[in-house]
Amino acid sequence: MVDTMNRAYAEEYGCNFTSIIPTNIYGPRDNFSIQNGHVIPALIHKCFLAKRDGTPFTVWGSGTPLRQFMYSEDLAELTIWVVREYHSPEPIIVSVDEESEVSIKDVAMAVVKAIDFQGEVVFDTSKADGQFKKTASNAKLRKLKPEHEFVGIEEGVKKAVDWFVKNYDQARK
Ligand code: GDP
Repeated sequence: MVDTMNRAYAEEYGCNFTSIIPTNIYGPRDNFSIQNGHVIPALIHKCFLAKRDGTPFTVWGSGTPLRQFMYSEDLAELTIWVVREYHSPEPIIVSVDEESEVSIKDVAMAVVKAIDFQGEVVFDTSKADGQFKKTASNAKLRKLKPEHEFVGIEEGVKKAVDWFVKNYDQARK
């Protein structure tokens, strides 16, 4: 609806509104709920509890599905760039490169490393894997902003973990 509205405003009044389509975002101040959180914050919370309580770390599904994850500060930076430099009502996909797609297992292992969890990691295949992949092309973004360097998954997960551990009491969970 935002896209339709932006096109209509551009056509009728010459307004310069646009919209961004971001892929999976994670980072500090996320919703770390185990039941309702997205995969990265939920895994961080679960691994944190597993380390604290000496229990296994349970990842839902087989770990094989692939996703593109973007660190929240990359989205913030690119949103400001869009406001300043992107002048079209056509939506723009703001996402990491297709080559940066990672498996849920890779993500779980990045969480294990960042938390320094030494216990057992279990893949609970009674839980749904969901869609195998949802790859989005960031070709338009890359054409306009080839130099942007996205935060890598290990570095981003480490920053999110450090924030969660430090702010455990106040974190949304
Ligand atoms: P979400 O919106 O972040 O839950 O993303 P998707 O549903 O697109 O994909 C999440 C993927 O991570 C699925 O393959 C899940 O089986 C897997 N997964 C593993 N552990 C968890 C978890 O604790 N929470 C969530 N939300 N997904 C998990």
